[in-house]
Amino acid sequence: MPPLDYKPKFQEIDHRKAILSLRWLVIILASYLTLFSYIGTERFPMVFAAAAAFSLTNVLLTLIPRRYFLMKRVQQGIALLDFVFVSTTFYLLRNPETYLYLAFLAVFLLAVVWHDLRLVLFSLFVVSLLFGVFSYFRLFRFQTDVNIEQFLRLALFFVVSIFYIFLSERLTQDAKVSDALLEENRLAGVMVEITRALSSSLNSVEVLFAIVSRLREVLDAQECSIVRIDPKTGKAQIMVKSSDPAFRNVPIELSDYPELKRAYDSGELFYLPDASPVGIIAVPMIAHESALGLIYIRSTTLGPTLSDSNVRFFEVIASTAANTLRNAQLFEEVEHRARTDYLTGLSNHRFFQATLSVELGRAQRHNRSLSLLIIDLDFLKEVNDRFGHPAGDTVIRSVAETIRNNCREIDFAARYGGEEFTVILPETSLSTAIQVADRIRERIAAEVFSGIGSITASIGVSNYPVNALSKEDLIRVADQALYIAKNGGRDRVGYFNYQMITR
Ligand code: GH3
Ligand code: MG
Repeated sequence: MPPLDYKPKFQEIDHRKAILSLRWLVIILASYLTLFSYIGTERFPMVFAAAAAFSLTNVLLTLIPRRYFLMKRVQQGIALLDFVFVSTTFYLLRNPETYLYLAFLAVFLLAVVWHDLRLVLFSLFVVSLLFGVFSYFRLFRFQTDVNIEQFLRLALFFVVSIFYIFLSERLTQDAKVSDALLEENRLAGVMVEITRALSSSLNSVEVLFAIVSRLREVLDAQECSIVRIDPKTGKAQIMVKSSDPAFRNVPIELSDYPELKRAYDSGELFYLPDASPVGIIAVPMIAHESALGLIYIRSTTLGPTLSDSNVRFFEVIASTAANTLRNAQLFEEVEHRARTDYLTGLSNHRFFQATLSVELGRAQRHNRSLSLLIIDLDFLKEVNDRFGHPAGDTVIRSVAETIRNNCREIDFAARYGGEEFTVILPETSLSTAIQVADRIRERIAAEVFSGIGSITASIGVSNYPVNALSKEDLIRVADQALYIAKNGGRDRVGYFNYQMITR
């Protein structure tokens, strides 16, 4: 996939162009004031050299790539150069009103350092007032030679100063906006990647792991985990954690993690920047108004507060994770329902067929034997006829339970249909399968149903590779063996060579 372009798509102002234009303006004005004052004098070369030197700095600045003009260091460096330049100009323009120029210099510095327009305008007002008071006293003392040229110089520098302030305001704001936009775009990028992970994998644990590992990377965090909480039992488990791809579903006590409990109970993001030894963010994962768990982030690089866009980001990620988790749960439920028999809770016929194919394939690959039992209840029709279908159902349910309880963990029991059951016995020889079948038969026969009495079952056994090589043969042979058991008088186990194990 092509890399994403997260660069902000807004119209940026060209900082280099703005700063350099303004400097040209300052250089031209200052040069005008100084050069013309010294034309024809012996100080002219010096003044000219100063103006040329500063023009040269501006030319050199054009060589610096645009993006560097966004950096604070570069901006401070340029401000320093300007300061030297303006001070030199003032030095060369020495005259009786030096203190006014010094006041202006202070204002200029304020503009650069504080970037605060109101403060600077107020200072300008004070300086103008001083200038007015000064002129007033001159006039009062009948010195009417108020130097109009000096007044103009001041005015020009004030104008430049105001420009400078406006520009620095704009630059700072612009930098803030572009920083915020860059951050938002970065976060949006992460979300796009997570959405891609969502659409490229159906495996919910994989998606959740992709979410935590990406989060850890972006936040430069120590650890990101997803904690699943069962709303009914309140039991919590860490499903995935970013530092260990093999880590899965480890139970935890929620009471050991007060910050998690707090976020889960309140349903709101909980942020603890200075939890020792690391900062903590706990974000509840809410889907369709129910909290399914939490995203838990531990990091040493968290700032004192979270910005609004950060909070929004965490909430969106948490809601994505919550939906992934919910979909996974729904999928598991649907899948479970699709392969389970509603009456007995055993696997159904379809799932039995699929499992038998898989198990037989495995037995063939590893050269192991595999046995199959088909269990059919004897005279269930009679039970139905005498005691009603619900009584028959009770018997079927109970027999299913007996079968389940008499199998190993790796055996697979299913309801084949009606009152027939099957059990797949991996890695089991024919003789062992016959023993297992007989045990099951005994246990079924031993159970007494109140008001009904007991019921028996007949069982057919087949085995790979002894008497069947394919799935179809396994079922057919077991069926034939069952027929033999039925014909032999029921309540017994039949198998292919017509030998019978009887009571
Ligand atoms: P046998 O197998 O020993 O020959 O006798 P049977 O009476 O069990 O055999 P048959 O195949 O003639 O009838 C099976 C009966 O099982 C028919 C049906 O009433 C009953 N049955 C099948 N599925 C269910 C079920 O889900 N619930 C109940 N209550 N009965 C069922
Ligand atoms: Mg039957």
